[in-house]
Amino acid sequence: MAEAMKTKSEPELRVLLGDEAVALGAMHAGISNAYAYPGTPSTEITEFLIREAGASGEFRAAWSANEKSAFEEALGASLVGRRALVSMKHVGLNVAADPFMNASVVAINGGVVLAVADDPGMHSSQNEQDSRYFADFAHAICLEPATQQEAYEMTREGFDLSERFQIPVMVRLVTRLAHSRSPVAIAAAREQNPLRRPGQHDSWILLPSNARREWQRKLDEAAAVMEYMESCPHNRLDLPAAGGKLGVITTGLARSYYLEAAEGLESPLPHLHIGAYPMPVAKIRELCAAVDRVLVLEEGYPFVERYLRGVLRQPVAIEGRLSGEVPRAGELNTDLVRQALGLSERPHGDAPPLPTRPPQLCHGCPHADSFAAVRQALAGFEQALVTSDIGCYTLGALPPYNAIDSCVCMGASVSMAKGAAEAGAYPVVGVIGDSTFLHTGVQPLMDAVAGKTDMTLVILDNETTGMTGGQPTILPSSRLESVVKGLGIDAEHCRVVEAHPKKIEAMRAVLQEEIDYHGPSVVIAVRECIETARRSKKR
Ligand code: SF4
Repeated sequence: MAEAMKTKSEPELRVLLGDEAVALGAMHAGISNAYAYPGTPSTEITEFLIREAGASGEFRAAWSANEKSAFEEALGASLVGRRALVSMKHVGLNVAADPFMNASVVAINGGVVLAVADDPGMHSSQNEQDSRYFADFAHAICLEPATQQEAYEMTREGFDLSERFQIPVMVRLVTRLAHSRSPVAIAAAREQNPLRRPGQHDSWILLPSNARREWQRKLDEAAAVMEYMESCPHNRLDLPAAGGKLGVITTGLARSYYLEAAEGLESPLPHLHIGAYPMPVAKIRELCAAVDRVLVLEEGYPFVERYLRGVLRQPVAIEGRLSGEVPRAGELNTDLVRQALGLSERPHGDAPPLPTRPPQLCHGCPHADSFAAVRQALAGFEQALVTSDIGCYTLGALPPYNAIDSCVCMGASVSMAKGAAEAGAYPVVGVIGDSTFLHTGVQPLMDAVAGKTDMTLVILDNETTGMTGGQPTILPSSRLESVVKGLGIDAEHCRVVEAHPKKIEAMRAVLQEEIDYHGPSVVIAVRECIETARRSKKR
């Protein structure tokens, strides 16, 4: 934990990651519960909260089986009046989309804040989807911090807004903010809410008649939300007296890049910063009425840029990712912003390029032994297919393993193996980690049992969620075999092997037998992740 720094007259300052600032903001907003599934770059939020909850015992923080469960657990706390934080990475919100969309219809009771960390540039993700679209889709409020200080303050405020407008509030982070540190001024903590049932008892029972009433109530309140957005300090318009032909709109972290690049400008440009959504339409119109061109700088998709085209009353040239002044994909940085502003010179000269470091499995990783066995078992088959999943083992795609043919989303190794096998492919092997299996692999394995599908699933049981730093899996490793059998996999075809360099031949033989069996089978390859084993030994 960061060391506290303060003098008698100054507020307490703590040096925090953006993720930790969100966690502390939630604690100081009086949460009773926090739930999450680990996913880079959001994992540190819940790691921080679990440490703090363990030390204080004042609230509960825990990992959940997946993001949908996490969101619904937070909703349960809200139903009884308590405040709850739920956090996840951007693709996790796809898994939690069902409760998130419907949470905007119920009358939120205790405040619910969803902290979602987007990954523009795909540092550790399979896409760079922009969660602001989800907030807009769900009619939720979205707060987008530009600094760690704002991450702390906006998370606190998010709970107040959630209770005031009875909707969930999203706090949208991006990787650079989530994973960088800065001093944060801390305010006094608020008490937790007492238990209290919703004012209208059926506002959480989404029968069509109730849902229609609640949805209309939300639409009626939209004007009040918009009014708040025009006056809230997170949406700030600076119109210099001198005016100018070019105006700039920034959102979230893009403000930092703009302010750095703007040091090279002769005079300040008209500038609107948007930190809270739905967008402040009046402020956007006011800016655009004062300029001929507007440059939109936003991290993620061209969300604001697209929106502008629908709300402007006068013709203004709109520049940004869609029109090509800013690259369509990837993260922003100060150089890109400088180019978009027409500034060619770097004020401080060129920095040397950083060396690249390709990802790879740790030396001695148990997955390497499992991949060796899978490759040997499939060696005689020209049409063999291996569907894989999200985790360290996705690196099985790279040399020297070259062992997998797909990796799409959590749990898809199982369902895609089923679909491919039922489309006629043979042999088909799915490869999934223990944590990912419990996240969303269980349900498609039930489908495979029901369909008597001719496929073999290999569960790589390294007793942890390795890729995100070694969080515990939701069930201990010893329970996996009984879970698999409980789903209906024939006991004879649920095999447990050891993933060890000396046991590769034994695993190959077991895999061969299960590939020869024409029905659903599971091979659980067990050995602890060497990183977590090393950490436990150190402890
Ligand atoms: S962290 Fe663990 S599971 Fe991941 S590559 Fe390293 S040893 Fe393997």
